[in-house]
Amino acid sequence: MAGQGRYLASTPPRPDVYVPVPRLRLCAPPTLAELAERGLLSTKPTSGLVPADEWECKNNKYHTGRKPVINYPTNNLLLNLPPLYCTGCKRTNPFAYGWKVPLCTLNHVPLRFLIRNQGEFDTCVAHAILAALDMQRGVDSALFSEAETKQALNILDLFHKYSDVFGVPFSEEHESPHTEHLALHRAACIFFLLQQYGVKYAAPKAATIPRRVLPQHHIALQVLDVFRISSLMLEHIVMLLANGFALVTGLPTGRAFTFTSSGEIYDAGLSDDNHFLVLIGSGVAHYPANPNDGNVLSTSSWPPNPSRRGWGPRLYFSARNSWKDYSHPEAALLGYGGDFNIWADQLAGVDLWGFHLPRPRG
Ligand SMILES: [Zn+2]
Repeated sequence: MAGQGRYLASTPPRPDVYVPVPRLRLCAPPTLAELAERGLLSTKPTSGLVPADEWECKNNKYHTGRKPVINYPTNNLLLNLPPLYCTGCKRTNPFAYGWKVPLCTLNHVPLRFLIRNQGEFDTCVAHAILAALDMQRGVDSALFSEAETKQALNILDLFHKYSDVFGVPFSEEHESPHTEHLALHRAACIFFLLQQYGVKYAAPKAATIPRRVLPQHHIALQVLDVFRISSLMLEHIVMLLANGFALVTGLPTGRAFTFTSSGEIYDAGLSDDNHFLVLIGSGVAHYPANPNDGNVLSTSSWPPNPSRRGWGPRLYFSARNSWKDYSHPEAALLGYGGDFNIWADQLAGVDLWGFHLPRPRG
């Protein structure tokens, strides 16, 4: 395979050679049964972020036996969640809630993580994936290890490896007919580099690391298997997030995206532009939820909610955005990226990516 081995061999790639999309080591996403088991690995504080009560659905005419159906909350690694759908009629639970990973603690360790501001560069894929790595290693170290890795990852190292392996600077793939197709596969290319070579830490504190563990392990972070999941698997995606799996994906973004502020639900609609994000939580909101519920005129022009004939409870995901971290009104969150929300059904047509990291050593 062209590309593979070039980095280690330090041979400059030839600019006149077609560069194939790299092949990844893939695995299936963790199953719902595996996620339910993972939920038993932690104890959740009694007063969680979200009240996770059972829900008695009285949509009787659609239930077998025409009786109410009791739906139970789910026990997940990071938090318990209310049931999302009725098992009898598939209706969405009308209970509105929202949560995100950076507000959670796991084994008393807060799961805060950063995303860098990509600035004017077309590099959201790399920024989102690196933030996902940070989220994932935060979860993994809180789960498996007492020692927490706080060292930042070196995004420039990733960009250098990208140019070395693919023969083109990241985000400038269109400059050559031999690489322009890679622009559509940036996530695969970045995951390939992370599987093959890993990403270095920004400033290895070698003096603080015992010599016997210094080689490899503390020099670069590598990704093991990568999995993909269809954006139509909404309940599965909710469970993956609640069980501490970082997911990255693209979202169509139009002009109004510029004005999206912290905590807002962005109505994506149709657009040719695509922005890559790390998903960090989920929730249910009543649509249309604002500007205000009583003003029919102000909401009648809203696009329909495909899940419930225009109105009612609708699932959303929380996302961390590498673009313009000043969209956070909270000064204390400077450098923590702008968080906003997206309607889950608007991710239709794309896949989400997740991955496994090597188990951290204590
Ligand atoms: Zn029901």
